[in-house]
Amino acid sequence: MKRFANFSRTVSATPARWQSITDPAQLPGVFAKAAKEGHTVRAMGAGHSFTPLVQTSGVLLNLDGFQGIEEVDALTHEVTFRSGTRLWQIPRLLRPYNLALANMGDIDRQSLAGAISTSTHGTGLAFTGFSGMVSGLRITLADGTEMRASPTENADLFQAARVSLGALGVITHVRLRCVPEFMLSAVERVEDIDQISKSFIERSRSTDHLEFFWFSGTSRALVKANTRLPAGISAPNAPGKVSTWLNDELLSNGALQAICTLGALRPQLIPRLNRLAAAALSERKHTGQWYRVFTSPRRVRFTEMEYALPLESFGTAFAEFRAYLAKAPAPVVFPIEVRTAAADDTWLGIASGRPTVYLAVHRYVRDNVPEYFPAAERILRRHGGRPHWGKEHSLGASQLSALYPRFADFQAMRSTVDPQGLFLNEHLRRLLVEEV
Ligand SMILES: Cc1cc2nc3c(=O)[nH]c(=O)nc-3n(C[C@H](O)[C@H](O)[C@H](O)COP(=O)(O)OP(=O)(O)OC[C@H]3O[C@@H](n4cnc5c(N)ncnc54)[C@H](O)[C@@H]3O)c2cc1C
Repeated sequence: MKRFANFSRTVSATPARWQSITDPAQLPGVFAKAAKEGHTVRAMGAGHSFTPLVQTSGVLLNLDGFQGIEEVDALTHEVTFRSGTRLWQIPRLLRPYNLALANMGDIDRQSLAGAISTSTHGTGLAFTGFSGMVSGLRITLADGTEMRASPTENADLFQAARVSLGALGVITHVRLRCVPEFMLSAVERVEDIDQISKSFIERSRSTDHLEFFWFSGTSRALVKANTRLPAGISAPNAPGKVSTWLNDELLSNGALQAICTLGALRPQLIPRLNRLAAAALSERKHTGQWYRVFTSPRRVRFTEMEYALPLESFGTAFAEFRAYLAKAPAPVVFPIEVRTAAADDTWLGIASGRPTVYLAVHRYVRDNVPEYFPAAERILRRHGGRPHWGKEHSLGASQLSALYPRFADFQAMRSTVDPQGLFLNEHLRRLLVEEV
Protein backbone atom coordinates (compact mmCIF):
# COMPACT_ATOMS: atom_id res chain seq x y z
CA MET A 1 0.00 0.00 0.00
CA LYS A 2 1.19 3.54 -0.78
CA ARG A 3 2.81 5.22 2.19
CA PHE A 4 2.73 8.86 3.18
CA ALA A 5 5.96 10.51 4.35
CA ASN A 6 6.45 14.16 5.22
CA PHE A 7 9.28 16.42 3.96
CA SER A 8 11.71 15.37 6.69
CA ARG A 9 10.65 11.68 6.59
CA THR A 10 10.08 11.91 10.34
CA VAL A 11 6.33 11.26 9.98
CA SER A 12 4.91 8.41 7.93
CA ALA A 13 1.64 6.55 7.59
CA THR A 14 -0.15 3.99 5.48
CA PRO A 15 -3.63 5.30 4.77
CA ALA A 16 -6.34 2.75 4.03
CA ARG A 17 -7.28 4.88 1.04
CA TRP A 18 -5.78 7.82 -0.88
CA GLN A 19 -8.56 9.91 -2.29
CA SER A 20 -7.96 12.46 -4.98
CA ILE A 21 -10.37 15.40 -4.91
CA THR A 22 -10.95 17.20 -8.20
CA ASP A 23 -14.36 18.65 -7.35
CA PRO A 24 -15.68 19.67 -3.91
CA ALA A 25 -18.95 17.94 -4.82
CA GLN A 26 -17.11 14.64 -4.14
CA LEU A 27 -16.58 15.49 -0.48
CA PRO A 28 -20.00 14.64 1.06
CA GLY A 29 -19.88 11.16 -0.48
CA VAL A 30 -16.26 10.62 0.57
CA PHE A 31 -17.05 11.64 4.17
CA ALA A 32 -20.17 9.45 4.36
CA LYS A 33 -18.31 6.42 3.02
CA ALA A 34 -15.38 6.94 5.41
CA ALA A 35 -17.71 7.29 8.40
CA LYS A 36 -19.59 4.13 7.39
CA GLU A 37 -16.32 2.20 7.19
CA GLY A 38 -15.14 3.57 10.54
CA HIS A 39 -12.32 5.58 8.99
CA THR A 40 -11.21 9.07 9.86
CA VAL A 41 -10.34 11.59 7.13
CA ARG A 42 -7.31 13.85 6.86
CA ALA A 43 -6.65 16.41 4.13
CA MET A 44 -3.06 16.94 3.04
CA GLY A 45 -1.28 19.74 1.22
CA ALA A 46 2.35 19.14 0.28
CA GLY A 47 3.20 17.10 3.41
CA HIS A 48 5.65 19.81 4.51
CA SER A 49 4.60 19.88 8.16
CA PHE A 50 7.05 18.40 10.62
CA THR A 51 4.25 17.32 13.00
CA PRO A 52 1.90 14.33 12.40
CA LEU A 53 -0.98 16.56 11.31
CA VAL A 54 -1.93 14.49 8.28
CA GLN A 55 -0.89 11.11 9.65
CA THR A 56 -3.76 8.64 9.22
CA SER A 57 -4.58 4.99 8.77
CA GLY A 58 -7.94 6.11 7.36
CA VAL A 59 -8.64 8.23 4.28
CA LEU A 60 -6.04 10.74 3.07
CA LEU A 61 -7.38 13.45 0.79
CA ASN A 62 -5.18 14.98 -1.86
CA LEU A 63 -6.36 18.22 -3.48
CA ASP A 64 -3.67 18.48 -6.17
CA GLY A 65 -6.44 18.03 -8.73
CA PHE A 66 -8.20 21.14 -7.46
CA GLN A 67 -5.93 24.07 -8.23
CA GLY A 68 -6.06 27.47 -9.91
CA ILE A 69 -7.99 30.72 -9.68
CA GLU A 70 -11.76 30.77 -9.50
CA GLU A 71 -12.46 34.51 -9.27
CA VAL A 72 -10.64 37.85 -9.28
CA ASP A 73 -12.03 41.12 -7.96
CA ALA A 74 -10.07 43.74 -9.90
CA LEU A 75 -11.27 46.52 -7.61
CA THR A 76 -10.38 45.05 -4.22
CA HIS A 77 -7.51 42.81 -5.43
CA GLU A 78 -9.16 39.84 -3.74
CA VAL A 79 -8.51 36.56 -5.52
CA THR A 80 -10.34 33.29 -4.86
CA PHE A 81 -8.08 30.26 -5.28
CA ARG A 82 -8.96 26.58 -5.29
CA SER A 83 -7.43 25.31 -2.08
CA GLY A 84 -5.06 22.72 -3.57
CA THR A 85 -3.13 25.47 -5.41
CA ARG A 86 0.57 25.32 -4.60
CA LEU A 87 2.31 28.53 -3.61
CA TRP A 88 4.80 28.16 -6.47
CA GLN A 89 1.90 28.32 -8.97
CA ILE A 90 0.57 31.60 -7.60
CA PRO A 91 2.99 34.10 -9.24
CA ARG A 92 2.16 32.69 -12.67
CA LEU A 93 -1.59 32.70 -11.89
CA LEU A 94 -1.52 36.30 -10.64
CA ARG A 95 0.69 37.72 -13.40
CA PRO A 96 -2.16 38.48 -15.87
CA TYR A 97 -3.77 40.63 -13.16
CA ASN A 98 -0.51 42.38 -12.14
CA LEU A 99 -1.04 41.15 -8.61
CA ALA A 100 1.17 39.56 -5.97
CA LEU A 101 1.01 37.99 -2.52
CA ALA A 102 1.80 40.52 0.20
CA ASN A 103 4.37 38.23 1.80
CA MET A 104 5.77 34.70 1.63
CA GLY A 105 7.85 32.35 3.78
CA ASP A 106 11.13 30.65 2.93
CA ILE A 107 9.74 28.19 0.39
CA ASP A 108 6.88 27.88 -2.07
CA ARG A 109 6.15 24.14 -2.09
CA GLN A 110 3.11 24.24 0.23
CA SER A 111 -0.52 24.20 -0.84
CA LEU A 112 -2.52 27.30 -0.05
CA ALA A 113 -4.84 25.39 2.32
CA GLY A 114 -1.84 23.74 3.98
CA ALA A 115 -0.10 27.09 4.49
CA ILE A 116 -3.07 28.85 6.03
CA SER A 117 -4.07 25.85 8.16
CA THR A 118 -0.86 25.96 10.23
CA SER A 119 -0.39 29.76 10.29
CA THR A 120 2.58 29.74 7.92
CA HIS A 121 4.39 33.09 7.79
CA GLY A 122 7.34 34.97 6.32
CA THR A 123 8.94 38.00 7.93
CA GLY A 124 7.99 41.67 8.31
CA LEU A 125 6.35 43.51 11.20
CA ALA A 126 3.85 45.18 8.89
CA PHE A 127 2.75 41.89 7.30
CA THR A 128 0.73 38.99 8.64
CA GLY A 129 1.19 35.35 7.76
CA PHE A 130 -0.99 33.73 5.08
CA SER A 131 -4.06 33.34 7.34
CA GLY A 132 -4.14 37.08 7.96
CA MET A 133 -4.44 37.69 4.20
CA VAL A 134 -7.57 35.52 3.92
CA SER A 135 -10.79 37.48 3.44
CA GLY A 136 -13.11 34.54 2.88
CA LEU A 137 -13.20 30.78 2.45
CA ARG A 138 -15.41 27.82 1.69
CA ILE A 139 -15.24 24.72 3.82
CA THR A 140 -17.07 21.40 3.65
CA LEU A 141 -18.02 20.12 7.10
CA ALA A 142 -18.22 16.52 8.34
CA ASP A 143 -21.94 16.26 7.57
CA GLY A 144 -21.26 17.28 3.96
CA THR A 145 -22.56 20.86 4.33
CA GLU A 146 -20.61 23.46 2.37
CA MET A 147 -20.22 26.68 4.35
CA ARG A 148 -19.03 30.09 3.22
CA ALA A 149 -17.20 32.07 5.85
CA SER A 150 -15.97 35.66 5.92
CA PRO A 151 -15.97 38.56 8.40
CA THR A 152 -19.64 39.14 7.53
CA GLU A 153 -20.89 35.58 6.94
CA ASN A 154 -20.45 32.87 9.60
CA ALA A 155 -17.88 35.13 11.22
CA ASP A 156 -16.95 32.76 14.07
CA LEU A 157 -16.35 29.91 11.66
CA PHE A 158 -14.20 32.30 9.62
CA GLN A 159 -11.99 33.20 12.62
CA ALA A 160 -11.65 29.55 13.57
CA ALA A 161 -11.18 28.05 10.11
CA ARG A 162 -8.38 30.34 8.96
CA VAL A 163 -5.98 28.38 11.19
CA SER A 164 -7.70 25.05 11.80
CA LEU A 165 -5.20 22.22 11.13
CA GLY A 166 -7.77 20.43 9.00
CA ALA A 167 -9.79 19.78 12.16
CA LEU A 168 -13.00 21.61 11.20
CA GLY A 169 -13.52 20.32 7.68
CA VAL A 170 -11.98 20.47 4.24
CA ILE A 171 -11.29 23.97 2.95
CA THR A 172 -12.07 24.09 -0.76
CA HIS A 173 -11.68 27.78 -1.65
CA VAL A 174 -9.54 30.54 -0.18
CA ARG A 175 -10.06 34.22 -0.97
CA LEU A 176 -6.84 36.16 -0.46
CA ARG A 177 -6.27 39.88 -0.27
CA CYS A 178 -3.55 40.37 -2.87
CA VAL A 179 -1.50 43.49 -3.61
CA PRO A 180 -0.20 45.16 -6.78
CA GLU A 181 2.91 43.41 -8.12
CA PHE A 182 6.18 44.67 -6.64
CA MET A 183 9.91 44.11 -6.70
CA LEU A 184 12.19 43.49 -3.73
CA SER A 185 15.60 44.95 -3.20
CA ALA A 186 17.56 42.53 -1.03
CA VAL A 187 20.61 43.40 1.02
CA GLU A 188 22.44 40.62 2.84
CA ARG A 189 25.08 41.66 5.36
CA VAL A 190 27.24 39.85 7.84
CA GLU A 191 26.88 41.44 11.27
CA ASP A 192 28.01 40.77 14.78
CA ILE A 193 25.41 38.65 16.57
CA ASP A 194 25.39 40.99 19.61
CA GLN A 195 24.65 43.95 17.38
CA ILE A 196 21.80 42.38 15.39
CA SER A 197 20.17 40.67 18.36
CA LYS A 198 20.04 43.97 20.28
CA SER A 199 18.74 46.03 17.36
CA PHE A 200 16.58 43.45 15.57
CA ILE A 201 13.14 44.49 16.84
CA GLU A 202 13.79 48.20 16.37
CA ARG A 203 15.17 47.67 12.86
CA SER A 204 12.26 45.39 11.99
CA ARG A 205 9.95 48.37 12.51
CA SER A 206 11.65 50.34 9.76
CA THR A 207 12.55 47.57 7.30
CA ASP A 208 9.88 45.89 5.19
CA HIS A 209 11.18 42.34 5.65
CA LEU A 210 14.08 41.73 8.04
CA GLU A 211 15.45 38.40 9.25
CA PHE A 212 18.71 36.93 10.41
CA PHE A 213 20.45 33.57 10.38
CA TRP A 214 23.06 32.67 12.98
CA PHE A 215 25.43 29.70 13.21
CA SER A 216 25.66 29.04 16.96
CA GLY A 217 29.05 29.30 18.60
CA THR A 218 30.10 32.08 16.23
CA SER A 219 29.85 35.86 16.34
CA ARG A 220 28.68 36.24 12.71
CA ALA A 221 25.05 36.47 11.64
CA LEU A 222 23.72 36.90 8.12
CA VAL A 223 21.13 39.70 8.17
CA LYS A 224 18.71 39.84 5.23
CA ALA A 225 16.78 43.07 4.61
CA ASN A 226 14.24 43.20 1.78
CA THR A 227 12.76 46.53 0.70
CA ARG A 228 9.65 46.76 -1.47
CA LEU A 229 9.91 48.68 -4.75
CA PRO A 230 7.34 49.38 -7.45
CA ALA A 231 6.95 46.72 -10.16
CA GLY A 232 8.93 47.10 -13.34
CA ILE A 233 11.88 48.87 -11.81
CA SER A 234 15.03 47.74 -13.54
CA ALA A 235 17.22 45.46 -11.46
CA PRO A 236 20.47 47.39 -10.93
CA ASN A 237 21.98 44.84 -8.60
CA ALA A 238 21.96 41.47 -10.20
CA PRO A 239 23.35 39.06 -7.61
CA GLY A 240 26.99 38.13 -8.01
CA LYS A 241 26.91 34.51 -9.10
CA VAL A 242 29.46 33.31 -6.58
CA SER A 243 28.00 35.05 -3.53
CA THR A 244 24.44 34.03 -4.45
CA TRP A 245 25.53 30.49 -4.76
CA LEU A 246 27.58 30.51 -1.58
CA ASN A 247 25.00 32.03 0.80
CA ASP A 248 22.16 29.86 -0.51
CA GLU A 249 24.34 26.79 -0.38
CA LEU A 250 25.45 27.55 3.16
CA LEU A 251 22.06 28.47 4.53
CA SER A 252 20.03 25.73 2.94
CA ASN A 253 21.54 23.54 0.24
CA GLY A 254 24.63 21.67 -0.99
CA ALA A 255 27.32 23.13 1.28
CA LEU A 256 24.98 22.87 4.27
CA GLN A 257 24.27 19.25 3.33
CA ALA A 258 28.00 18.52 3.27
CA ILE A 259 28.73 20.05 6.67
CA CYS A 260 25.59 18.51 8.19
CA THR A 261 26.64 15.07 7.00
CA LEU A 262 30.10 15.55 8.41
CA GLY A 263 28.74 16.93 11.68
CA ALA A 264 26.37 13.98 12.10
CA LEU A 265 29.26 11.54 11.58
CA ARG A 266 31.77 13.44 13.72
CA PRO A 267 29.85 15.58 16.27
CA GLN A 268 33.13 16.76 17.81
CA LEU A 269 33.69 18.75 14.60
CA ILE A 270 30.42 20.69 14.90
CA PRO A 271 31.79 23.86 16.54
CA ARG A 272 34.53 24.03 13.90
CA LEU A 273 32.06 23.43 11.06
CA ASN A 274 29.82 26.21 12.35
CA ARG A 275 32.79 28.58 12.43
CA LEU A 276 33.77 27.55 8.91
CA ALA A 277 30.24 28.12 7.59
CA ALA A 278 29.88 31.49 9.33
CA ALA A 279 33.26 32.65 8.03
CA ALA A 280 32.23 31.84 4.45
CA LEU A 281 28.99 33.88 4.55
CA SER A 282 29.27 36.86 2.28
CA GLU A 283 27.54 40.13 1.58
CA ARG A 284 25.42 40.70 -1.50
CA LYS A 285 22.77 42.99 -2.93
CA HIS A 286 20.22 42.15 -5.54
CA THR A 287 16.80 43.22 -6.80
CA GLY A 288 14.19 40.87 -8.17
CA GLN A 289 10.53 39.98 -8.49
CA TRP A 290 8.77 39.48 -5.15
CA TYR A 291 8.46 35.69 -5.28
CA ARG A 292 12.04 35.13 -6.45
CA VAL A 293 13.47 37.09 -3.53
CA PHE A 294 11.11 35.79 -0.82
CA THR A 295 11.63 32.09 -1.45
CA SER A 296 14.47 29.72 -2.22
CA PRO A 297 14.83 25.94 -2.54
CA ARG A 298 15.54 23.86 0.56
CA ARG A 299 17.32 20.67 -0.38
CA VAL A 300 18.72 19.49 2.96
CA ARG A 301 16.39 17.15 4.89
CA PHE A 302 15.92 18.76 8.25
CA THR A 303 13.35 18.99 10.97
CA GLU A 304 12.44 22.15 12.81
CA MET A 305 10.92 23.71 15.89
CA GLU A 306 9.76 27.33 15.83
CA TYR A 307 8.33 29.38 18.65
CA ALA A 308 6.53 32.71 18.39
CA LEU A 309 7.28 35.24 21.12
CA PRO A 310 5.86 38.63 22.03
CA LEU A 311 8.30 41.29 20.79
CA GLU A 312 9.16 42.50 24.28
CA SER A 313 10.41 39.03 25.29
CA PHE A 314 12.88 38.63 22.47
CA GLY A 315 15.94 40.22 24.12
CA THR A 316 15.87 38.10 27.27
CA ALA A 317 14.69 34.91 25.54
CA PHE A 318 17.43 35.11 22.91
CA ALA A 319 20.09 35.89 25.52
CA GLU A 320 18.99 32.87 27.55
CA PHE A 321 19.01 30.69 24.45
CA ARG A 322 22.52 31.84 23.58
CA ALA A 323 23.67 31.10 27.12
CA TYR A 324 22.27 27.57 26.75
CA LEU A 325 24.06 27.10 23.41
CA ALA A 326 27.32 28.32 24.89
CA LYS A 327 27.15 25.43 27.37
CA ALA A 328 25.41 22.77 25.26
CA PRO A 329 27.70 19.84 24.60
CA ALA A 330 26.45 19.14 21.07
CA PRO A 331 24.93 22.08 19.24
CA VAL A 332 24.01 21.47 15.62
CA VAL A 333 25.33 22.59 12.27
CA PHE A 334 22.32 24.54 11.15
CA PRO A 335 21.66 28.26 11.29
CA ILE A 336 19.09 29.57 13.76
CA GLU A 337 16.53 31.77 12.01
CA VAL A 338 14.78 34.84 13.48
CA ARG A 339 11.80 36.58 11.83
CA THR A 340 8.77 38.75 12.69
CA ALA A 341 5.09 39.18 11.76
CA ALA A 342 2.23 41.56 12.39
CA ALA A 343 -0.59 40.47 14.69
CA ASP A 344 -3.65 38.88 13.10
CA ASP A 345 -7.12 38.22 14.48
CA THR A 346 -7.53 34.49 13.81
CA TRP A 347 -8.38 32.38 16.88
CA LEU A 348 -5.39 30.03 16.61
CA GLY A 349 -2.94 32.07 14.55
CA ILE A 350 0.53 31.89 16.04
CA ALA A 351 0.69 35.69 15.85
CA SER A 352 -2.94 36.09 16.91
CA GLY A 353 -3.44 39.25 18.93
CA ARG A 354 0.21 40.18 19.20
CA PRO A 355 3.02 41.41 16.95
CA THR A 356 5.43 38.52 16.95
CA VAL A 357 9.06 37.52 16.71
CA TYR A 358 9.81 33.93 15.66
CA LEU A 359 12.83 31.94 16.68
CA ALA A 360 13.40 28.73 14.72
CA VAL A 361 15.83 25.93 15.51
CA HIS A 362 16.59 23.25 12.94
CA ARG A 363 18.24 19.89 13.06
CA TYR A 364 19.65 17.80 10.23
CA VAL A 365 17.60 14.59 10.24
CA ARG A 366 20.62 12.43 11.04
CA ASP A 367 21.89 14.60 13.90
CA ASN A 368 21.68 12.82 17.21
CA VAL A 369 20.86 15.69 19.57
CA PRO A 370 17.78 14.60 21.53
CA GLU A 371 18.24 17.37 24.10
CA TYR A 372 18.36 20.30 21.66
CA PHE A 373 14.69 20.91 20.84
CA PRO A 374 13.37 20.19 24.38
CA ALA A 375 15.94 22.62 25.81
CA ALA A 376 15.02 25.32 23.28
CA GLU A 377 11.34 24.69 23.97
CA ARG A 378 11.77 25.06 27.75
CA ILE A 379 13.49 28.43 27.28
CA LEU A 380 11.06 29.77 24.69
CA ARG A 381 8.00 28.66 26.67
CA ARG A 382 9.26 30.52 29.74
CA HIS A 383 8.98 33.71 27.66
CA GLY A 384 5.40 33.23 26.50
CA GLY A 385 6.26 31.32 23.30
CA ARG A 386 3.64 29.66 21.14
CA PRO A 387 4.73 26.73 18.96
CA HIS A 388 4.29 26.76 15.19
CA TRP A 389 1.50 24.27 14.44
CA GLY A 390 3.41 22.68 11.57
CA LYS A 391 6.73 22.33 13.41
CA GLU A 392 7.92 20.10 16.21
CA HIS A 393 6.72 20.78 19.75
CA SER A 394 5.53 18.79 22.73
CA LEU A 395 2.46 20.74 23.84
CA GLY A 396 -1.06 19.40 24.43
CA ALA A 397 -4.50 20.96 24.87
CA SER A 398 -4.12 22.23 28.43
CA GLN A 399 -0.85 24.04 27.71
CA LEU A 400 -2.11 25.40 24.40
CA SER A 401 -5.32 26.68 25.96
CA ALA A 402 -3.24 28.93 28.22
CA LEU A 403 -1.59 30.48 25.14
CA TYR A 404 -4.69 31.34 23.10
CA PRO A 405 -7.56 33.42 24.56
CA ARG A 406 -9.99 31.88 22.03
CA PHE A 407 -8.79 28.27 22.41
CA ALA A 408 -11.99 27.14 24.21
CA ASP A 409 -14.07 28.78 21.47
CA PHE A 410 -12.11 26.84 18.88
CA GLN A 411 -12.67 23.60 20.81
CA ALA A 412 -16.40 24.33 21.04
CA MET A 413 -16.56 25.08 17.32
CA ARG A 414 -14.74 21.84 16.55
CA SER A 415 -17.14 19.73 18.64
CA THR A 416 -20.12 21.45 17.03
CA VAL A 417 -19.03 20.98 13.42
CA ASP A 418 -17.42 17.55 13.85
CA PRO A 419 -19.05 15.87 16.87
CA GLN A 420 -17.95 12.37 15.81
CA GLY A 421 -14.31 13.37 15.30
CA LEU A 422 -14.25 12.44 11.60
CA PHE A 423 -11.24 14.75 11.08
CA LEU A 424 -9.28 13.86 14.24
CA ASN A 425 -6.13 11.77 14.45
CA GLU A 426 -4.14 10.97 17.58
CA HIS A 427 -2.01 14.12 17.26
CA LEU A 428 -5.04 16.39 16.89
CA ARG A 429 -6.80 14.75 19.83
CA ARG A 430 -3.80 15.58 21.95
CA LEU A 431 -3.70 19.17 20.69
CA LEU A 432 -7.36 20.01 20.63
CA VAL A 433 -9.37 17.59 22.71
CA GLU A 434 -7.67 15.82 25.57
CA GLU A 435 -6.49 17.47 28.71
CA VAL A 436 -2.87 16.51 29.31
C1 LIG B 1 11.49 23.20 3.92
C2 LIG B 1 10.39 23.84 4.71
C3 LIG B 1 10.34 25.22 4.83
C4 LIG B 1 9.32 25.82 5.56
N1 LIG B 1 9.30 27.18 5.67
C5 LIG B 1 8.35 27.77 6.42
C6 LIG B 1 8.30 29.19 6.56
O1 LIG B 1 9.10 29.92 5.98
N2 LIG B 1 7.34 29.71 7.35
C7 LIG B 1 6.44 28.93 8.03
O2 LIG B 1 5.61 29.47 8.76
N3 LIG B 1 6.43 27.60 7.87
C8 LIG B 1 7.35 27.01 7.09
N4 LIG B 1 7.34 25.64 6.95
C9 LIG B 1 6.22 24.89 7.53
C10 LIG B 1 5.10 24.73 6.50
O3 LIG B 1 4.82 25.94 5.85
C11 LIG B 1 3.79 24.30 7.17
O4 LIG B 1 3.98 23.15 7.93
C12 LIG B 1 2.67 24.11 6.14
O5 LIG B 1 1.48 23.81 6.80
C13 LIG B 1 2.95 23.01 5.16
O6 LIG B 1 2.02 23.10 4.10
P1 LIG B 1 1.60 21.82 3.30
O7 LIG B 1 0.88 22.26 2.09
O8 LIG B 1 2.73 20.90 3.16
O9 LIG B 1 0.50 21.19 4.29
P2 LIG B 1 0.51 19.80 5.05
O10 LIG B 1 1.71 19.73 5.90
O11 LIG B 1 0.27 18.71 4.10
O12 LIG B 1 -0.77 20.02 5.97
C14 LIG B 1 -0.76 21.02 6.96
C15 LIG B 1 -2.13 21.14 7.59
O13 LIG B 1 -3.05 21.67 6.62
C16 LIG B 1 -4.22 20.87 6.61
N5 LIG B 1 -4.81 20.95 5.27
C17 LIG B 1 -4.21 20.79 4.09
N6 LIG B 1 -5.11 20.95 3.09
C18 LIG B 1 -6.30 21.21 3.67
C19 LIG B 1 -7.61 21.49 3.20
N7 LIG B 1 -7.88 21.54 1.90
N8 LIG B 1 -8.59 21.74 4.10
C20 LIG B 1 -8.35 21.71 5.42
N9 LIG B 1 -7.12 21.45 5.93
C21 LIG B 1 -6.11 21.21 5.07
C22 LIG B 1 -3.71 19.48 6.94
O14 LIG B 1 -4.77 18.65 7.37
C23 LIG B 1 -2.72 19.80 8.04
O15 LIG B 1 -3.35 19.95 9.27
C24 LIG B 1 8.32 25.02 6.20
C25 LIG B 1 8.37 23.62 6.08
C26 LIG B 1 9.39 23.04 5.33
C27 LIG B 1 9.43 21.54 5.19
